[in-house]
Amino acid sequence: MIPENHPRRDSLILRDKIVKANDSGILAPSSLIAHGRGETFDYLLGERTTLPAKRAIYVAVATMIVADNPVISVNGNTTALVIDEIIGLANELNANIEINLFYRTDERVDKIEKLYRKHGFDDILGGNDDEIKYLRSIKNPRATASKRGIYDADVVLVPLEDGDRAEILSKTDKTVICVDLNPLSRTSRKSDISIVDNIVRVIPLMVQIARDLKNQDEEFLYELIDSYDNEYNLKESLEEFKIKEGY
Ligand code: ATP
Ligand code: MG
Repeated sequence: MIPENHPRRDSLILRDKIVKANDSGILAPSSLIAHGRGETFDYLLGERTTLPAKRAIYVAVATMIVADNPVISVNGNTTALVIDEIIGLANELNANIEINLFYRTDERVDKIEKLYRKHGFDDILGGNDDEIKYLRSIKNPRATASKRGIYDADVVLVPLEDGDRAEILSKTDKTVICVDLNPLSRTSRKSDISIVDNIVRVIPLMVQIARDLKNQDEEFLYELIDSYDNEYNLKESLEEFKIKEGY
C-alpha cells in the first residue's frame, strides 16, 4: 500500500502497474528500463502537461479527426498504463488499434490481444493471425505493419515508439504522431507531431479534446494543423526542462 500523502505516490502507482504487467507476461525485460527512462524525464519536467505538449496534442487530435485511416500503435507499456483510455480514444476517433512489439513473441502478442478483447475492444490488428506487410518493402522486423492497419494508414499515433521504427515510419508519406517524454530521442526528432509528455496524461486529454474538436468545422481543424511547426514546438518542449531553483 502506498500512503495517500506519499510525495511520489502517482509515480509509484504507475511503477506498480508496470511491475504487475511484467508479472502477467506482457512486457519484455527492456520495457522496465524504458519505463524508468520515462520516469526520469517526467520527474525533471515536473510531471505536468506543458503548453507545447498541449499544442501538439490539439494538432494531433485534429490530424486524427481529418484522417482517412488513423491507427494507434500499442505495445506492452502502453497497454499496461492506459488500455481503457486507448480504447476510448480509438472509439472516439474511429481509429484502429494495432499491436507492435519491439521484442515480438507470439505469446506476448496473444496475451495483449486477449487483454484488449477482455476490455471490450475486439477488432485488434497486428495479432498473430493478422496479415503482416513490410513498410517500403524493407525486410526488417522493425518495418512490419498490419495490412489493414499501419500499412494502409495515413496517420499513425505511436506512443513510446522505438527510434529505428520511427525512422522507417517517417520515410513513408504517413503523418507520424509520437508520445515520448524525451524530446531528444530519435522518435521525437523523426515524428511530424511530437508530444513530449507522459502517456498517462496525454491519452485522457486526447479523448476530451476529440469530443470537442469533432464538433468543429474541418476548415478550423486544417487551420490548426497548418499553423503548427513541430521543430519549433520541440524546441519549446525542451526548454520546459529548465530546472527551476528550489524545485
Ligand atoms: P529512441 O529509440 O527513440 O532513440 P530511446 O532508445 O532513448 O529512444 P527507448 O527505450 O527506445 O528510448 O524508448 C522508450 C522511450 O519512451 C524513452 O524515450 C522514454 O522516455 C519514453 N517513455 C517511457 N515511458 C513513458 C511514458 N509513460 N510516457 C511517455 N514516454 C515514455
Ligand atoms: Mg530506442
